[in-house]
This record gives sequence, C-alpha cells and structure tokens, in this order.
Amino acid sequence: MIDELGNKYSRLYVIALADERINGQAAWICECQCGGSRVVRGNLLRKGITRSCGCLVRERVAKQAPMAAAIRCGHA
Ligand SMILES: [Zn+2]
Repeated sequence: MIDELGNKYSRLYVIALADERINGQAAWICECQCGGSRVVRGNLLRKGITRSCGCLVRERVAKQAPMAAAIRCGHA
C-alpha cells in the first residue's frame, strides 16, 4: 500500500486512511478545497481520475451544453 497521507491531488487533500476498502484496495478520506469530502482509492488519485469531491464535475457540467454534460457524466 502506498501511503498517500498528506498528499494533495488537484482539489483533494488526503487527511486519513479510510476504514473501508474499495475492491480490496486502500481508500483514503480526502478533503476537498470546496469544503466537501470524499473517500477515494489511492490509484484513482495517482492517475488523476478523481480530482475533487465532485464539485469539479458539477462546475464543468454547468458550463457545458446538456448533451456534452451527459456524455461526460460519471467521469472524474
Ligand atoms: Zn469539492
């Protein structure tokens, strides 16, 4: 397991190791810049797949046409 404690990935700051495992992998409790929080798998953080609590996606969707938002929904 790679220790992610204290790391920062985009808007997420890793504050603790989560008790739960996701698909057998270590998950981390991350605090988002917006004040939200989210439990994220370490590899998703490192690959840059999860970069916020969801607020980045919400902001992007708000700026896009509904069709484009639907296509991208569920990513990042
Ligand atoms: Zn956020």
